Amino acid sequence: MKGYDVEKLRTIAVTGHLGSGKTTFMESLLHISGEKKTKGSVEEKNTTSDYLEEEKKRLNSLSTSVIPVEYDGYMYVFLDTPGNREFTSELYQSLSVVKGAILTIDGTKGLDIGTEEVLTDLNEKNIPTIIFINKMDKENIDFPKIINSLKEIIGYQVVPFLWPIGEADDFKGYVDLVDMKARVFDGSKTQIEAIPSELEDTVSELRETIVESVAETSEALLDKHFAGEELTQDEIRNGLRQGVINGDLKPVVIGSALKDIGTRTIMEMISHFMPSPMDLEPMEGKNPETKEVESRETTKDVPFSGYVFKTTVDPFIGSVNIIKVYSGQLKGNSEVYIPNIKKTVKIGNVAYIRGKEQIPTDYIGPGDIGIVSKIDGLMTGFTLCDPKHPIIFKGPNTPQPTMYVAVRPVHKRDEDKISSVLQKLNLEDPSFVVERNAETAQLLIGGQGMTHIKFILAKMEDLYNVEVELLDQKIAYRETIRKKVEAEGRHKKQSGGSGQFGVVNMRFEPLEDKEETLEFNEKIHGGSVPKNYFPAVEKGLYEVMQKGPLAGYPVIGIKATLFDGAYHAVDSNEVSFKQAAALSFKKAYEKANPVLLEPLSQIDIMTKDDYVGDIMSDITKRRGTVLGMEPLNNGKQKVSAEVPDAEIKRYTIDLKALTQGSGSFSRQFLRYQEVPDHLIESIVEKSKEK
Ligand code: GDP
Repeated sequence: MKGYDVEKLRTIAVTGHLGSGKTTFMESLLHISGEKKTKGSVEEKNTTSDYLEEEKKRLNSLSTSVIPVEYDGYMYVFLDTPGNREFTSELYQSLSVVKGAILTIDGTKGLDIGTEEVLTDLNEKNIPTIIFINKMDKENIDFPKIINSLKEIIGYQVVPFLWPIGEADDFKGYVDLVDMKARVFDGSKTQIEAIPSELEDTVSELRETIVESVAETSEALLDKHFAGEELTQDEIRNGLRQGVINGDLKPVVIGSALKDIGTRTIMEMISHFMPSPMDLEPMEGKNPETKEVESRETTKDVPFSGYVFKTTVDPFIGSVNIIKVYSGQLKGNSEVYIPNIKKTVKIGNVAYIRGKEQIPTDYIGPGDIGIVSKIDGLMTGFTLCDPKHPIIFKGPNTPQPTMYVAVRPVHKRDEDKISSVLQKLNLEDPSFVVERNAETAQLLIGGQGMTHIKFILAKMEDLYNVEVELLDQKIAYRETIRKKVEAEGRHKKQSGGSGQFGVVNMRFEPLEDKEETLEFNEKIHGGSVPKNYFPAVEKGLYEVMQKGPLAGYPVIGIKATLFDGAYHAVDSNEVSFKQAAALSFKKAYEKANPVLLEPLSQIDIMTKDDYVGDIMSDITKRRGTVLGMEPLNNGKQKVSAEVPDAEIKRYTIDLKALTQGSGSFSRQFLRYQEVPDHLIESIVEKSKEK
């Protein structure tokens, strides 16, 4: 890989829905650039970007790969991002370090919901985007209809730059509306031909739209245009470039990644219309010492700064961090500072990457992407910088898990290993969480959906040889009482020498605040229970409350008052009073109208208007309460509701089914609430079975 100017560098995210052809598109680029003699194919499982076993099995990309391509004097660094919405954490990290994206659309499917979501993301994050309608070699593609639906979603910025010549099997090329040339692919190379006469009207009309949108970028051009003068080709190109970079224009291009049609033109368009690092505003961050906002220009003569947007951990090689250099150069064998953990570290070799290959280099230049290896504690979302010029960049927020599963190692030998393996995988992917539920003793993995969680489990098996099985997730119920009652606890034991003796009379009542476990008071008069035994009484209660008499769940929300009792000068001791307290609690509990409590969470559901009715009635079926609705800007609604955890164990999956894949939600624990009486019995039965 030879040196090149920053000006000739383009970092581009390749985005799009599952199966739209991102991986095939990358193969086409590697092929036409001469990087790969024979093209890889998704079906033959030999593509550059999908190299994890699990990805090959599923035939779609589940994690981002970095693929540099050199073509015609330019250096393109592509980030092939996962198309599945359960992997948006990867997508958002990648989008945080690029200023350019290709959105691939499967022409036969048009604007499905997955595509619409990525399009909205790119638009909201203001990332210059070229929209690529792929698979034009297939039947049933209504190109004008796709253009119209694109316009409906993001508006007038959508401008076709290419117009197809021929359909399906006869699709052989396109008219380039920017230079008004017809490019026809003859099976091996592209020929320039005359514009087919039947397309003349259509293309001249479209060309006019392009010229108008360019004219609108400056007053001088607008005057020239209204005066009836032709804009020069340079004026058009520069105007389009400006428009694409500032987000006013979203060019639409077409082709067939499979047949290498259109992919050359897309590379050229990226070099012409997408920003180089030099076109960008300096990157802003915070000085961790002064807390002042500082900026870093993307040139080589300023202090080094960079951001880790992806981490992989290999059981044999160790950790590898993929870094976007924002300013200066990241040199091999240098010292850098990690402000997030306040640590200066020495880095060894630096390298470029291509899929899973590493290409050593002396330094990674400004705007470029490369890797460092084996740096302890360095993870996705962290900044690296010159130790003398500290700065910290803020990355995208990590999404909260929407679904949990309980897992258990299949082999006993893996019981100790599983936590450390999950910890390593967590470095790669901060969007899943691992929790050990203390009382159900289950190991829980929380992720963005079932595909996401299965991907994590598959990596555990493939990379670390740890096989797990899924268990039904236990709900962490609680118990409490509903009535105020009194009871005596009498502990008396005489065996041989000294005995045990303690009596307590106690009052138990429900606490208003169920977040508190136990509020202990004493109202002893005349020393019927000596002061030094009070702590033992309280301890005895805590212990017995760990396992409630109703179904074995922890008891919470109890106010206990010790108001009388008895002791013996010789036989009383701490153990006796602990026992007495436990006895009095158990006796009182039966009379106190005990009840089960269940965890209740707030869920905020994002959905299209069309599904709001179905979602609300589904929430009611799940014993939930709708709290309110709030319109969002893009024809969507946010529905907030309170729902018992037991009813939303698999809500991620159910919501997708309910909304044809378009709904998403976040959840947050709220409080415990009483389980309705008619459900208590079956829960108690189940807990006894164990
Ligand atoms: P990704 O999930 O976006 O990476 O999509 P892939 O590159 O894996 O492509 C999904 C499927 O579409 C594969 O079977 C490809 O062979 C096929 N495909 C991709 N591009 C084209 C194309 O231009 N024409 C046709 N006919 N098939 C294509």
